[in-house]
Amino acid sequence: MNHPDTSEKLRCLADLVEQAMCIGCGLCQGLAGGAIRMARAKSGYLLPEVTGPPAEGDIDAILACCPSRQVRAPQPEEGARQNHDPVWGAYRRLVHGWAGDAELRFEGASGGVLSALGAFVLASGKVDFVLHARAARDAPAGGEAALSFSRTDILAGAGSRYGPTAILAGIKEVLDLGRPFAVIGKPCDLTALRNFARFDARVDRLVKYWLSLVCGGFMPPEGTNAFLARYGIAPEEVCRLRYRGRGFPGPTRVETWDGRVVEASYYDFWGENYDRWTLPHRCKICPDSIGEAADIVAADPWPGGGPDPEDAHAAGSNVMIVRTGAGEGLVAAAAADGALVLGDESDIVQMNDYQPHQVARKHTAWARLEGLRAEGRLVPETAGLRIEELARRMDEAFNAAQEAGMRARVRAGKASEPRPDWG
Ligand SMILES: Cc1cc2nc3c(=O)[nH]c(=O)nc-3n(C[C@H](O)[C@H](O)[C@H](O)COP(=O)(O)OP(=O)(O)OC[C@H]3O[C@@H](n4cnc5c(N)ncnc54)[C@H](O)[C@@H]3O)c2cc1C
Repeated sequence: MNHPDTSEKLRCLADLVEQAMCIGCGLCQGLAGGAIRMARAKSGYLLPEVTGPPAEGDIDAILACCPSRQVRAPQPEEGARQNHDPVWGAYRRLVHGWAGDAELRFEGASGGVLSALGAFVLASGKVDFVLHARAARDAPAGGEAALSFSRTDILAGAGSRYGPTAILAGIKEVLDLGRPFAVIGKPCDLTALRNFARFDARVDRLVKYWLSLVCGGFMPPEGTNAFLARYGIAPEEVCRLRYRGRGFPGPTRVETWDGRVVEASYYDFWGENYDRWTLPHRCKICPDSIGEAADIVAADPWPGGGPDPEDAHAAGSNVMIVRTGAGEGLVAAAAADGALVLGDESDIVQMNDYQPHQVARKHTAWARLEGLRAEGRLVPETAGLRIEELARRMDEAFNAAQEAGMRARVRAGKASEPRPDWG
């Protein structure tokens, strides 16, 4: 039987799930494996299932580290010449680039920068492996954690996984290896791991590079299923799904067990005007989807915020937000080696043009969280993310509409996840 305190804490974990705040990073399983496992609910989301009594310390750590409970920007680097932008946070350099290795550039989501950096830190002996994602073997529309020890492994994980992906589900075992590594993950994955660094000193000792992507959020499983249904494909018929890559951004390619192949465009997937772009609730309120916890963040450099269909099969490129000294050193070393090819420097005006949805999200996050708070919902503690300051720059009517919109979503049940049905 659980201690009453533990039961209460487990209730809090269940509330996070039922209030649709779980993003499925896998940290719960990572910390309390054996007692909590990430399981695919019937809804298609990866959610924590409690399978045994977790140790009191583990549940405390989970609640303190969950990226839906705490989201903080790291302290500015001491004595560093970091720039600060209210939307984009701390940065040392904004620069375009792409993988020097033509295959990594081709297979990568955009210009293969993250894969190139992953392959470079391995080849140069800076780390022993890279923790990132690859297509999930049990559900290829989603992802799973991958430990890559070679360029070949990195290549297998290239591309964006626009489905639930729990890269931290084995984090204790990863740390137990006691070997230096780099991590590539979504901003929320990095937040969870940075939070866990306060509980386990091995994180800061072993994670040598923190690499991330600017993240609009992933497609909810029902959105991906609706996309598949338009081509007469049921989710269980899919044996391979590449969302992008092999172009800029390349086709979304679905393969079925019985040999059918469908290739669709980026806009077929997300909608002509992003009108099929639905999001998990947690992504809608994300106070940091620009990777403030990373050394380097890779993004798409599409003017106006969307790809030009004419470029669908062109060689891709990225823009990088290089935030830290470690990131700056890595970019310089990878460029000197030829692993990375650098293009023009970028700037904040250009970033705002490339990522209008990220600019909007930073300006709406505070009011949306206020809406959740007003409805008595769980709200993440935030620090250093400037979201209150950005909300203050908006007029009152704008903030009131954002807050009211979030309250209406909660009341309409759009910010709730049914108690997981494990099918
Ligand atoms: C959920 C999601 C939302 C995105 N939203 C935006 C956006 O708003 N704006 C924008 O500019 N770009 C967005 N991207 C795309 C992103 O820009 C590119 O993935 C990024 O620029 C890196 O490109 P690349 O060519 O360097 O990637 P690659 O070289 O292909 O490397 C991508 C790396 O990311 C890892 N990865 C992929 N998917 C996941 C995942 N779900 N969880 C953890 N790790 C993963 C892979 O394992 C791989 O190591 C998004 C990607 C994802 C997965």
